Amino acid sequence: MQTTTYDPLYLFINGAWLAAAGRDTAAVVNPATGAALGRLPLATAADLHLALQASFDAFQVWRRTVPAERARILRAAAGLMRERSEHIATQMTLEEGKPLAESRDEVLRAADYFEWFAEEARRIDGRVVPANRPGVQQLVKRQAIGPVAAFTPWNFPAITPARKLSAALAAGCSVILKPGEESPSTALALARCLDDAGLPKGVLQIVFGVPDMVSAQLIASPIIRKVTFTGSVPVGRLLSERAAAGVKPITLELGGHGPVLVFEDADIDAAADDGAANRFRGTGQVCISSTRFLIQRGAYDRFVERFVAATRKLVIGDGLAAGTQVGPLANPRQLAKMEALVADAVEQGATVLTGGKRIDGPGYFFEPTVLAEVPMTARIMHEEPFGPIAVLRPFDNLQDGLAEANRLPYALSAYAFTRDARTAIDVGDGLEAGMIGINQYRIIATELPFGGMKESGHGAEGGTEGIGYYLTNKFISQA
Ligand code: NAD
Repeated sequence: MQTTTYDPLYLFINGAWLAAAGRDTAAVVNPATGAALGRLPLATAADLHLALQASFDAFQVWRRTVPAERARILRAAAGLMRERSEHIATQMTLEEGKPLAESRDEVLRAADYFEWFAEEARRIDGRVVPANRPGVQQLVKRQAIGPVAAFTPWNFPAITPARKLSAALAAGCSVILKPGEESPSTALALARCLDDAGLPKGVLQIVFGVPDMVSAQLIASPIIRKVTFTGSVPVGRLLSERAAAGVKPITLELGGHGPVLVFEDADIDAAADDGAANRFRGTGQVCISSTRFLIQRGAYDRFVERFVAATRKLVIGDGLAAGTQVGPLANPRQLAKMEALVADAVEQGATVLTGGKRIDGPGYFFEPTVLAEVPMTARIMHEEPFGPIAVLRPFDNLQDGLAEANRLPYALSAYAFTRDARTAIDVGDGLEAGMIGINQYRIIATELPFGGMKESGHGAEGGTEGIGYYLTNKFISQA
């Protein structure tokens, strides 16, 4: 196993890397071993005040920096992320736990977002609208909306910050980012790449702290003109209320409870094998994860057998160990939640087909778990597990399959497997979700909008849509 050291942790405010120096600190722990990795400085109210002022000042500079120069800096930062990807990936696995191969892939995909939005910066155009009075020229411009407060969670510590930062910086906004306190080093490493690529001081700042205190102060400040959050529905709702108080737009990417409709005519083996890989990727701590597998009755037994066999083959362990496919959960809260969800389902009559328990020893490991015959009253049929538990249920026809798939207020990702073109069109139209995979689980690409519907949030990150959430329209009518 690779041995490595964990980078020192800082706040990054007004171009300065600030160590604890008398501030409160929080422990950062390796979830695979429970060992302390380092101490994270927590921002004070005075730190946040300074960050806000710096964000305001830097916005005046960055909004006037020509798009080609913004693009050059973002592209250079993407290059540095690729050069440093091995180091950044190792930091990520140490603090978040995911297998090193997944961390590497995530860093490279984060770099792709910076490259994509570097190009988008050069395509922020406007319109000339013919006037209905002679001698009048009407222009519609799209301009950077202003300083942004961004909040990202611990599960994808590179790609979630990257989706927000790349689009906001390309648009000409300054950003104060508060990443998840559990996995802070990855976002700092991305910020280091941007700093080294020549991003002017104050354009990007990174703060950590008591999340509620940080979001309350940042969102209430008149300096902040846009909020973006990825995390749970309750926190998203709270930040929405705070943004509404200041009449500020907010982009929300919240949880999911991804349904998978497997029809009898599908490639059942592929749906099951790839389904197990998808469900347990990131130890199930993935907002677009497939959670509820709904299988048409004629294919149910075969699917269950394949799915359980594929699940049992998964190699669980420290993400730095060669061959690991499933790492630990991120924190003890997650472990306690998995135990509670399984206990509740079993108490109500569910069958555990495999897994179901925490794994003894150091670290926050939980067995990849498959539940069948889960009653609709069980908590897991309503709450996002955000961990390594799959639920398998039969359905009879398209109508009742779609009804179950769309039953919850979540509407982030959904999947369907069928060889029938008509069924594929009907599920594509009928599934309520922001992102739908048909005959495949891979639904993310830099070029596509990432985002949900219903209580899973609103707004898109990535694609040609992504930059628009950091721009505002202004028309100029000139006589
Ligand atoms: P949580 O809601 O407490 O925290 C999620 C993130 O939000 C963390 O990074 C946290 O620092 C931040 N946060 C919490 N309170 C905040 C506040 N008042 N202001 C600003 N930021 C705040 O959840 P958790 O215990 O870390 O995870 C539990 C659940 O959150 C999961 O079960 C899952 O449903 C959801 N979650 C979703 C995603 C996602 O990608 N959509 C990511 C992480 C967690």
